[in-house]
Amino acid sequence: MEYRKLGGTGRLVSVIGLGCEHLDRKPYEQAKETVDAALSSGVNIFDMFMPGREIRENIAKALGNRRGQVMIQGHIGSTDIKQQYDISRDMPTVKKYFEDILRVFGGYIDFGMMFFIDSEKDYNDVFETDFIKYVEHLKKQGDIGHIGFSSHNPRTAIKVINTGIPEMLMFSINPAFDMLPPDEYVLDHFQKGISSELFRGIDPERAELYKLCEQKQIGITAMKTLGAGKLLSPEHSPFVKPLTAPQCIHYALSRPSVASVLLGCQTSGEVLDAVRYFDSDDSERDYAGILGSVRNDFKGSCVYCSHCQPCPAEIDIASVNKCLDIARLNINDIPPSVRSTYSSLAHNGSECTACGNCENRCPFGVRIIKNMEEAAGLLA
Ligand code: SF4
Ligand code: SF4
Repeated sequence: MEYRKLGGTGRLVSVIGLGCEHLDRKPYEQAKETVDAALSSGVNIFDMFMPGREIRENIAKALGNRRGQVMIQGHIGSTDIKQQYDISRDMPTVKKYFEDILRVFGGYIDFGMMFFIDSEKDYNDVFETDFIKYVEHLKKQGDIGHIGFSSHNPRTAIKVINTGIPEMLMFSINPAFDMLPPDEYVLDHFQKGISSELFRGIDPERAELYKLCEQKQIGITAMKTLGAGKLLSPEHSPFVKPLTAPQCIHYALSRPSVASVLLGCQTSGEVLDAVRYFDSDDSERDYAGILGSVRNDFKGSCVYCSHCQPCPAEIDIASVNKCLDIARLNINDIPPSVRSTYSSLAHNGSECTACGNCENRCPFGVRIIKNMEEAAGLLA
C-alpha cells in the first residue's frame, strides 16, 4: 500500500480506500471478510455515507478494537427517511442521523462530510442556514476531526472551497466525467450511459477545481473512479475501447490534490483485485491512448498521463507540469507547498536538454520543452 497526505488535514491516507456502499444490506459475515481484507491490505480510510443503522453497526462490529486503524468519512445530512438514500437539511433529522454514526463509531468521526453539495440550492441550504453552524460546532467539540464535503459539480465545489471552511473534498473523478461540462449533471449520465458526443477534452472548470484544491491544500478523495464499472465494459464505455481498473485508478490518482481513490468493494476478492493496482507497471496504467482518441478541443493541456516518458534527463514530466499548472493560477503568489513539491523532485525542469523526445510522444500536443523552461524560471 502507498499513503499520501490528505491536503492540509495532514492525515496520511491509503491511496486505495474502501467505499462501503455495496456492503449495505449484505450479511455481517460478508462485511467482516471485506473489512478484514481491506485492513490486511493496508487500507486505512473508509467511506460511510450510508445512513442505515445495520450497515453502520456491521462495519463497526467488523472493525472491533481496530477502529483506531481506520479513518472514517461520515456524512452529515445523509438519511434514509423513505427507506432509501436521501439528503436532508432539516436540522433535527440531520442531527439524529449524525449522532447515530458518532455513537456507532466510538464518538468520533475523522472526516465530517457535508453531504452532496451539487447545486446552488444545495449550497444555500448548507451555508445560509444552521447546517453550517452545526458542522462547525461538531469540529469545535472534537466530534469530527476535519470538515469535508462531497460534490459532483466542479462549479459548486469551487464555491464551497472559497468559503474557506472545508479542509477536504470527496469528488467524482474518472476520465469520462472529467470531459463533461459542469452544466451536464454527471449522475444523469451515470444512469443512462455516457455519450462521447459531449466530450470536448478535459473540462476547464474541473481542471480549475483540481488546481485550486492543490493551491489551497484541500485534499481530495475520489469516488466513482470506475464509473460503476461502465468504463471497464466494452458495451458501455464511451471511449473507443474500455479502460482497465489500473488505468482508471491511475487517472484519478494523477489529478492534483487527490490522495485516495475509494473503491466500492463488496467481497474480500474485490479488495484483493483493487490492490493489484500496485502490481501493474507504467504501461498497464497508461491511459493516454484512450483519452487521446476522443475529440479534444483543449489540446495543449497536460493530463498528467506520463505517456511522454521516459525522459533521458529522468525528469518526471507530468509532475513538473502539475506544479507549473498550479503555479500559473497566480504566479505572484505561488503556494510554498507547490515550490516544495517541485524542489523535492529528483530531477526538474532546469535539467531539460530540449531533446524533444517527449513532445514526439505526447498525444495532447503539450509544449513540454517550453513548460520545463517556464517551471525552472518560476519554481526554482
Ligand atoms: S506532457 Fe503529454 S504525455 Fe506527458 S504527461 Fe502531459 S499530457 Fe501526458
Ligand atoms: S525535451 Fe526535456 S523533458 Fe523532454 S525528454 Fe528531452 S530532456 Fe526530457
